[in-house]
Amino acid sequence: MNPLRITNKIAASGDRNPHRRHVEDITHVMMHRIEVFDDGVLCDSAESIAGQFRAHPEWLGTPDMPYPLIVTTSGGIEQACPLTTVTPHAWKWNERALAVGWVGDFRTSEPTNQQAACANIMLPILVQAFGFEADNLVGHTEPGLEKATRHPEKVCPGKHMDPVSLRRLVEVGLQAKARETLREAGMVF
Ligand SMILES: [Zn+2]
Repeated sequence: MNPLRITNKIAASGDRNPHRRHVEDITHVMMHRIEVFDDGVLCDSAESIAGQFRAHPEWLGTPDMPYPLIVTTSGGIEQACPLTTVTPHAWKWNERALAVGWVGDFRTSEPTNQQAACANIMLPILVQAFGFEADNLVGHTEPGLEKATRHPEKVCPGKHMDPVSLRRLVEVGLQAKARETLREAGMVF
């Protein structure tokens, strides 16, 4: 059984961004926080977040949806546009990094338990799907990334979603998957 359930919201999110890349051009998976409100209500879906960018480009910086993938507070994965869409999320990294937007503000709050469970399942598979190592998973403003933001004071996704821990989680997840495959094939550890 496939433990990942991805809800396709591409049409509903109003994807109009024609700027595409090849799958091979993607070199990193990048974590972001996204917390926007519509009339005081948290936008907790790909559709509503894309709608806020379309409606308020002057203060969100762009009318285009920055995140092909959104992880909602209930741990659901929603897709807003194809992974090969070049989206405006990290300045000079837009062409090569695939953006995952986690709903919340991880400067001040922990991910929900469901989001943590989603990270465990999704991130190793996502990294593996592009032939990456755990090191290819990064946080938007973590030290060492050159020109990933125009705003030096920005902190994304925040200390409660630490990329170092996520990379370790990916390593452990990839090992677990490999061992499971070997066990299924009859190997005894
Ligand atoms: Zn970000």
